[in-house]
Amino acid sequence: MKVVLLGPPGAGKGTVAKQLTNYDGSVQISTGDILRNAVKAKTKLGLEAKGYMERGELVPDKLIMDIMEARLQEPDCAKGFLLDGFPRTIPQAEELEVLLAKLSIKLDGVINLDVPKDVILDRLTTRRTCSNSDCQEIYNIKSKPPTPEGNCMKCGSPAVQRADETVEAITVRLETYNEKTSPLINFYEKKGLLKTISSLSSDKIVAEITAAMKK
Ligand code: ADP
Ligand code: ZN
Repeated sequence: MKVVLLGPPGAGKGTVAKQLTNYDGSVQISTGDILRNAVKAKTKLGLEAKGYMERGELVPDKLIMDIMEARLQEPDCAKGFLLDGFPRTIPQAEELEVLLAKLSIKLDGVINLDVPKDVILDRLTTRRTCSNSDCQEIYNIKSKPPTPEGNCMKCGSPAVQRADETVEAITVRLETYNEKTSPLINFYEKKGLLKTISSLSSDKIVAEITAAMKK
């Protein structure tokens, strides 16, 4: 499937995307993961993106579009892709349309994960992420804890709180979402591509998405 996952930080886009990759071999493309890896590797992209990310702000559209233009042309995308964290602004969505047309790719749909605000705040502050960049398994200290020592169940690396998961940065991320990203709901609704899913469990979300994509 060729799908955009839309939703506020903490809606579960990453978790759902990871589960959907098992469904039909589509690849998860997370701009957040790509950027975090670039920051860690101290590449030119990483050095440019670091400050914005730590403050909870969006990185400039141009940087993201360059990443996505290259990424969508990699061979593993032919089977399908789950865009997780992109597009994040109206200009990104407009440029994505141009890019997809150029590459003769047609989107199957846009999934809007709708989650209540209090749930989101709680999730973001209790989230832990595996620090191994090849793993990045997501944990939650309440609902899906890492080992008692705080390590990843899969690879044993420490599961840590992300630098942008402080209360200050989370507040900025939620404001940024409301201001810059939530207009995309209307944008895709008008194009007849939107499917909104309001569910709290990722298993149910995955079942609803795969059912919707079969139609
Ligand atoms: P979230 O959990 O907030 O959805 P992500 O892991 O998707 O976080 O992204 C982390 C950070 O990376 C964002 O706060 C932002 O600084 C940057 N980022 C990721 N994707 C984009 C994008 N499409 N446009 C601009 N900035 C982005
Ligand atoms: Zn791990």
